[in-house]
Amino acid sequence: SRPSYKWQRVLLKVSGEALAGDNMQNIDPKITMAIAREVASVTRLGIEVAIVVGGGNIFRGSSWAGSSGLDRSSADYIGMLATVMNAIFLQATMESIGIPTRVQTAFRMSEVAEPYIRRRAVRHLEKGRVVIFAAGTGNPFFTTDTAAALRCAEINAEVVLKATNVDGVYDDDPRCNPNARLLETLTYHEVTSKDLSVMDMTAITLCQENNIPVVVFNLSKSGNISKAIKGERVGTLIGG
Ligand code: UDP
Repeated sequence: SRPSYKWQRVLLKVSGEALAGDNMQNIDPKITMAIAREVASVTRLGIEVAIVVGGGNIFRGSSWAGSSGLDRSSADYIGMLATVMNAIFLQATMESIGIPTRVQTAFRMSEVAEPYIRRRAVRHLEKGRVVIFAAGTGNPFFTTDTAAALRCAEINAEVVLKATNVDGVYDDDPRCNPNARLLETLTYHEVTSKDLSVMDMTAITLCQENNIPVVVFNLSKSGNISKAIKGERVGTLIGG
């Protein structure tokens, strides 16, 4: 029997920055463990969870391109490799608490992880395994937010849940303006026309074109990941 939650299959996007927490070592194991526990609690309910991990905690191509003659494509390949490190770390953490987890990479690293094969990813999810998609889209000049939108559409997940370090999308910068309001809902058009820095344009338009709602929420608040996955009200919902 199918659970009666809002979503049956979700795509959770975890940025590198969120994984870092306040740990100087790029990854905070308290955070990966918190993610693993919350994901475990929802997979037990029968909700299928795929994850796209970022890499910004280790290497961001755009900020390195140009330095020491590093061209953008090479810098981006290093960035994609960074996401694989995060993916392996998160996989190990998940499996340490008994959640079967597969990593699939957008380019081949077959000694380390499976290559991305759409049907195989879906099969893993149907069997109750968590699938972590690493190496972004496999192409330079893209982001892992775009990878999240792309994989979400490919595997027919119903929503992109973007876990960040802020409570959601505000009408102004909450660090500068104490009266900034958290917006509960937004249309795609509002995000793109007001240039709200939610996701890059490629990612948000890909969601819009495929009618994929996006929930932006704070991962550092305990319980939020499982709430978001269960479709409970949290953060900002972008759609329509
Ligand atoms: N990247 C890329 N193509 C992709 C996804 C990522 O080239 O499809 C590279 C890019 O250099 C990016 C880095 O990988 O800066 C890390 O990804 P991202 O910045 O999206 O991570 P996040 O901001 O989520 O931590």
